[in-house]
Amino acid sequence: MAGFFSTPIEYLKGIGPQKSELLKKELNLFTYSDLIQHYPFRYEDRTRFYRISELDETMPHVQIKGVIRSMETVGEGHKKRLVAHFYDGSGEMELVWFQAQKWVAKQLKPGVQYVVFGSPSRFGGKFSIAHPEIEPLNAQSDKTGYLQPVYHSTEKLKVRGLDSKGISKIQEHLLALAKEHINETLPPDFLSLYSLIGKLDAMQQIHFPVDHDRLQRARYRLKFEELFYIQLRLLKLKVTRTAKYKGQVFSDPGLLTRFYNEQLPFELTGAQKRVIKEIYADVRSGKQMNRLLQGDVGSGKTIVAFITMLLAIGSGAQAALMAPTEILATQHYQGLQPFAKKMGLNISLLTGSTKTKMRRQIHEALEAGQLHILVGTHALLEDPVQFRNLGMAVIDEQHRFGVAQRARLWQKNREFPPHVLVMTATPIPRTLAMTLYGDLDVSVIDELPAGRKPIKTVHRYDSHRLRMFGFMKEQIAQGRQVYVVYPLIEESEKLDLKDLMDGFESVSRAFPPPQYQVSIVHGRQKPEEKEFEMQRFIKKETQLMVATTVIEVGVNVPNASVMVIENAERFGLAQLHQLRGRVGRGADQSYCILMTDVKLSKEARIRIDTMVRTNDGFEIADIDLKLRGPGDITGTQQSGLMDMTIADLGKDGEIMKLSRQAANDLLEADPDLSGSQNSNVRRQVEAQTRERVNWSRIS
Ligand code: ADP
Ligand code: MG
Repeated sequence: MAGFFSTPIEYLKGIGPQKSELLKKELNLFTYSDLIQHYPFRYEDRTRFYRISELDETMPHVQIKGVIRSMETVGEGHKKRLVAHFYDGSGEMELVWFQAQKWVAKQLKPGVQYVVFGSPSRFGGKFSIAHPEIEPLNAQSDKTGYLQPVYHSTEKLKVRGLDSKGISKIQEHLLALAKEHINETLPPDFLSLYSLIGKLDAMQQIHFPVDHDRLQRARYRLKFEELFYIQLRLLKLKVTRTAKYKGQVFSDPGLLTRFYNEQLPFELTGAQKRVIKEIYADVRSGKQMNRLLQGDVGSGKTIVAFITMLLAIGSGAQAALMAPTEILATQHYQGLQPFAKKMGLNISLLTGSTKTKMRRQIHEALEAGQLHILVGTHALLEDPVQFRNLGMAVIDEQHRFGVAQRARLWQKNREFPPHVLVMTATPIPRTLAMTLYGDLDVSVIDELPAGRKPIKTVHRYDSHRLRMFGFMKEQIAQGRQVYVVYPLIEESEKLDLKDLMDGFESVSRAFPPPQYQVSIVHGRQKPEEKEFEMQRFIKKETQLMVATTVIEVGVNVPNASVMVIENAERFGLAQLHQLRGRVGRGADQSYCILMTDVKLSKEARIRIDTMVRTNDGFEIADIDLKLRGPGDITGTQQSGLMDMTIADLGKDGEIMKLSRQAANDLLEADPDLSGSQNSNVRRQVEAQTRERVNWSRIS
């Protein structure tokens, strides 16, 4: 059976070597298995014929049977069009062509019966369909009672006869052959337990559904299966890892107690305490910890990371913190350093720009065990970086590291892998986290430190700039500091840089010295220059900082209470939320001002309105997921895991939760899938593993 589905597509009737080459190139379809999983992306409603008298504009696509009474060409220039008056006994409507008018006019004959298919719209009192599909009425076109599949195709394929209809033909051949090879892939009792239709039924209905209801059930079944196997794989990974990898036991709380008693700068929030308890339980368990720490900007992850490190160091091990960028690593280093100093611990920073001599010192101190904490970028992963005993690896990842990179940190220790705490500052919707980090345990800091005032966010148009400058001056007069942020994206870097410089000039003009001082920070500056400007702001020598999104992550200046975001419509939600998180860190009321043009796209308006309405990072993440889809949010790093043919993480959260629960229950009852009721599952997991091996060879 595995043999059948791995058959190369050129063996299928109607394909042959040339078309198969094209299908490989254009759609990545190599085998029967690939082809049969090339599902339609939409369906045309051929369940029945509609009457012209019952049309309404909300109907997406309809088919109508009738005759053309007459044709004429109307309008001038680019409005010139061919109009056919189409009548079906219940009323008349217009069929309209703007392109290929002569050719169409020649094909159509008044008085002949046609079947017309398209999307109706209304002008004045009359319905019309522009560029309808039209066929003479015959036995084939008179058929109803089905949904017509529409498949993705490409221009090159269309030329070769493989448009949607052509693909539908070969799917028909394939299904006829595949029928006897399609076996159930889920445990038999799942079908009644989760109200799922069988695999064969689902495959037939997904390609050639008889009605909407059956189609829905087919889609549901296939999504469930897809998500179930993803979750099963992740959970299995977790189970196997827990069984396989022992973890160092850190049960000496001495150092931690000393920190609590002597140095704790503030009362921890309930959420911080809970998370620390969860981590403490992990590191005492004898199993390797693999935990995700989610917490909104400003929720206080740094101190949790530090306390986690203390657990390791207190038992004689070392700790590392890895961040995706140099700025962020530096910021973490600066955040941790005061704590480390007070506790008499040695801490160093290692990045790409660390000088050779310093680097050598770090390597030595690390191997000798004198260095307790090492903070850095991927530079930490390089071979010469050897710890005496790495016990705790904290990874601040913002989706930027993949599973593979995470694993490389583990190999830094000979005997035991270190415990791993992955931190993300961008809240991830639950459903997405279940997949992206489905192999990790999850802790959430869902509470901000006491006394924080929620940031007030407003939306202003460019015409309000003078009033806004006035507001900024009031804030500065109260001793506050202000960020003004400009977008800078690679594609339009030059223009953006000009915007930034223009902005800097206009701010400098509105806020002249000696009363005011302005910092400027952007990605094109040398690191020293950037650092110098940043330090001036941190030391309060400047009251304003004009910057690009380099300040998006990490920068912590509690005295800054106003964040002005220029061209806010050009930022994504996650970024806007990150930027806003740079203020609201002190006790003062903070403000975020989103500046935009008057003209806004629909999506931009949703983003801006969302920001104005809520400060809740998880709510924002959910909306972001709906607007952008999971692909954009996760980036390409994770693609192997995220490859889905039918499920959509943005929309199928409920199915995902159910399938994860199902996978969990199944593994609990039968961890190695040896039960006879799970033979389908075992076979499917093995088949998928084989496929993945093949796939990784190709890519
Ligand atoms: P993030 O989760 O964004 O990394 P940080 O750890 O940088 O947040 O904390 C943000 C600010 O809140 C810091 O100035 C930190 O000192 C402060 N902070 C953290 N926890 C508490 C707390 N429990 N009470 C008061 N302030 C806190
Ligand atoms: Mg932080």
